Amino acid sequence: MNKKVYAIPEPGISNPITFNSKICIGCNICVEICQVDIFIPSPEENKPPIVLYPGECWYCGNCVVECPKPGAITFNPLLMNRVHWKRKNRSEG
Ligand code: SF4
Ligand code: SF4
Repeated sequence: MNKKVYAIPEPGISNPITFNSKICIGCNICVEICQVDIFIPSPEENKPPIVLYPGECWYCGNCVVECPKPGAITFNPLLMNRVHWKRKNRSEG
């Protein structure tokens, strides 16, 4: 007997990873490399994986580094970790 299994992404958490479905080839290297298994492969062939557990991401960036298709996967660092450089105005204290 075949059983259906449903997987629903964790709600209410900002997504640490974004895929570009026009570039991603669905090789699932990022799925394999993630040490906390936040992704599952897409049920559709050659499509980007699904981010199932965004709250588990360690923000290590390994999935982006190992992806063979530049631009297919983008890392979205936590807001507090985004650095915005500003030229120092030497006339100010
Ligand atoms: S994002 Fe990169 S590593 Fe992940 S499935 Fe797509 S092409 Fe493969
Ligand atoms: S940044 Fe690290 S922990 Fe987060 S999805 Fe990529 S490999 Fe997994």
